[in-house]
Amino acid sequence: MDGCCEEKLRLLFEFRKATQSYSTRVGAMAEATAGIIPSVEFARLSKIATQAHEQCLEAHAKLFKHVKEHGC
Ligand SMILES: [Zn+2]
Repeated sequence: MDGCCEEKLRLLFEFRKATQSYSTRVGAMAEATAGIIPSVEFARLSKIATQAHEQCLEAHAKLFKHVKEHGC
């Protein structure tokens, strides 16, 4: 047990970054729905948000895989 695992911190930072990116993109979709952004943009934004979500899940999986294997 190491309370200060650098790899864990790195993966956690990556996960946080991916989450923030996803959140920003979902926010942009909400604006499109509210009519602030032309609706034609919605499909494009939706695709980008889906990709961001996948990155999010991937970063999350990597973090938990590390914690499990490393026991940190
Ligand atoms: Zn670790």
